[in-house]
Amino acid sequence: MASQPSTTLLILGASGDLTSRLLLPGIATLLRAEPDRRVDVVGADLRELTADDWHDRVHTALQLDGVVGPGAKAVLRSTRYVAGDATDPASLRALLESIDCDRLVIYFALPPQVTEPVCRALEQTGVPEGTILAIEKPFGASLESARELNALVTRIVPEDRVFRIDHFLGLHTVLNLLGLRFANRLLEPVWDRDSIAKVEVLYDETVTLEGRAGYYDRNGALRDMIQSHLLQIMALIAIEPIASVAARDLRDAVGQVLRAARVADPVAHSRRARYTAGSIDGREVPDYVAEEGVDASLGTETLAEVQVEVATARWAGVPFILRSGKSLAGVRKRAIIHWRPPALVPEGFAGRDTPDRLVIDFKPDGFELHITTNGSGDPFTLEQTVLRGELGGGALLPYGEVLASILDGDPRLAVRGDAAEECWRIIEPVLEAWRADAVPMQEYAAGSLGPGWDTDGDI
Ligand code: NDP
Repeated sequence: MASQPSTTLLILGASGDLTSRLLLPGIATLLRAEPDRRVDVVGADLRELTADDWHDRVHTALQLDGVVGPGAKAVLRSTRYVAGDATDPASLRALLESIDCDRLVIYFALPPQVTEPVCRALEQTGVPEGTILAIEKPFGASLESARELNALVTRIVPEDRVFRIDHFLGLHTVLNLLGLRFANRLLEPVWDRDSIAKVEVLYDETVTLEGRAGYYDRNGALRDMIQSHLLQIMALIAIEPIASVAARDLRDAVGQVLRAARVADPVAHSRRARYTAGSIDGREVPDYVAEEGVDASLGTETLAEVQVEVATARWAGVPFILRSGKSLAGVRKRAIIHWRPPALVPEGFAGRDTPDRLVIDFKPDGFELHITTNGSGDPFTLEQTVLRGELGGGALLPYGEVLASILDGDPRLAVRGDAAEECWRIIEPVLEAWRADAVPMQEYAAGSLGPGWDTDGDI
């Protein structure tokens, strides 16, 4: 029997937060679900870490449930750690030469500002044939820098081996969205401007800064969430019907939506806000600007909202409202499709006020269909009834799904170069308006609903 090709996952930035909190646990779930999968893991980072320290970290991550299959055992046997500067071509070359495998995946678990210098070093050293580059968000810091980074990475490997990571788009989330819409005669025919009044994509968190000022304070909610994730979800909701869920069909359709998307009026159609002291679930939260490491002069927002329009025949005139904030009253990670009211409700009925809507929840995945029905006591009265269902959760943690797709060379979930640029193009006018102070910075108390919400949680 032919042996499996050997794959090495080289993690640059291996002693950082992403690696310990998300990547190693992601590998653990993957190897639990597929115990025979073979992958070698090499960690590299600026920090000196002893071989024992590294081994302990991997060991702890891979033994989460106490069951260790052959794949995990092989990782534990072979994993190693190398200290060095990934921006230095000489040390990078030595590192690459020390790896002997059929297929190499280089994972950038690095601070975003280090991505470009590391790519320049890789351009000098070259990489083995077939190498995949997995690059974390944010990809670039502006449209111009994303373009330059795209040009640089595709001089190292071809586009189909560049995986721009969006962990939000775990496989099951993407497939749930597509399955619900396209496999239901009930939904697909009313998925357009004639039937839909408004679409919201919301990502509300109760979490605060959590000690990540170094990264977050230089980015803020618009770049961190809307540019990197919510525009991708919006595009998946708005795509034209596709012939298959294969990578090419899916990414072409997403690209088409993003190319047609824009913020028509960056001043009137955007909101920025920052949390002030408050309490969340009994926990006291300080002002954002009083959090350790925050530089108030940067004027970073912790909540961002934009109204995007998609100028296609299907969506012209339908607002897509994307919003994400930290330190809010509750967790709400969902898309809401608001349908228009019916053309006419027969005279004689009373009490109908809310048009129908579909709520698609991410994490945990589920849906609610709010439809109008006759009141239980009085059939002349109309009211809203909610039908609830679960959507299939993935067997893996989101980073397990991300890593599985990278190791399998399946770019379906990765953000294509043109899409990464489009997302910057869409938000740049908003960033410009904010830089010019044309949009006031609002404030909201930590633990509140945030500005612009009514008490029912609607924008
Ligand atoms: P961290 O700062 O915790 O980790 C980055 C690691 O890279 C650090 O150990 C750092 O060392 C090391 N490093 C810096 N420069 C070099 C270099 N030249 N050569 C080798 N190693 C270097 O960042 P995170 O792990 O939080 O984030 C990494 C990436 O993942 C970012 O792009 C982030 O946006 C993304 N991400 C992070 C998430 C998270 O929850 N943490 C979630 C989703 C995405 P040192 O500290 O000594 O400088």
